[in-house]
Amino acid sequence: MRKLVAAILIAISSPIAPEIHPFAVVWDIGQGQWVTVVTNSTCLHFDMGGERWLPPVLRFCRNKINRVYLSHSDMDHIKFLPWGSRHLPHLCDAAPPLDPMNQRKKRLVASVRRCHADLATNEVKVVEITPRINRKFRGHNEFSRVFVIYGPDRAILIPGDSTADAETVWSKRLLNLPPVQILVAGHHGSRTSTSETLLRRLPSLKIAIASARKAKYGHPHPEVVARLRANGVPCVRTEIWGNIGLQL
Ligand SMILES: [Zn+2]
Repeated sequence: MRKLVAAILIAISSPIAPEIHPFAVVWDIGQGQWVTVVTNSTCLHFDMGGERWLPPVLRFCRNKINRVYLSHSDMDHIKFLPWGSRHLPHLCDAAPPLDPMNQRKKRLVASVRRCHADLATNEVKVVEITPRINRKFRGHNEFSRVFVIYGPDRAILIPGDSTADAETVWSKRLLNLPPVQILVAGHHGSRTSTSETLLRRLPSLKIAIASARKAKYGHPHPEVVARLRANGVPCVRTEIWGNIGLQL
C-alpha cells in the first residue's frame, strides 16, 4: 500500500508535458517553402527556405529532434539551412536534393549533417513518392522530391516545385495509398503544377495552401485557384492567413 501511495505521489508530482496531436505548420515566409510537422518527440521540416524573415519555429522545435527533407535546391527552399543547423537541436538532413547543384548550394546543403538513424517516431509516417529520374527532366523543379506525411487522422502532400509532367508520373502512386486531405500547392501555386490529373487522383482533398507572395511571381496563379475551386477545394494563402497550422 505504501509503495502504491508513493508511486501515485511521484506520478502526480512529475512534470509531464501534455501530449500533443501531430500537426503541420505551413510557415508564412514569403515566397518559398518551409513546412514543419510537429510531433511529441520530433520536428520534421520539409524545406527550410523563404525570403528575409524567419518563422517562430523554435517555439515548437527547440527541445525536439529535428530532421529536414529537401525537395530540391532552389534558394527559396534551402536558404535557412545554416540557421537551422545552428539553432535546431540534432538537425540532420534526411533527404538531400536530387537536382544538380552549384558550389554555393552544395555548401548550404553540406551545412547540415546527413541523418544516420531512421525516423524515431511512429506518430507520423513519411512516404516518399518521388518519380524516378527521367531523361526528359530539364529544370531543377522536375527533380523535386515529393512526400506524403500521414498523421493519425489526416495526410498532407508536399510536392515541392514538382511540375505537371512529373505530377502525371508520381500521382499514380497516390492511387494505392490512403487518402490525402491537405495539399501544399506545388511550386507555390504556379500554373505549371496542381494539374487536373493530380486533382483527379486526390478525391479526398479538402484544402490547398499556397506558400507564396503574390507580388513576387503572381502565385497562386488564378488558373490554379479556379482548378481547385472547380474541384470544391479552397486555396488559402500564407500571405493572407500567416502561419497555417493543421492537425494531422
Ligand atoms: Zn520554389
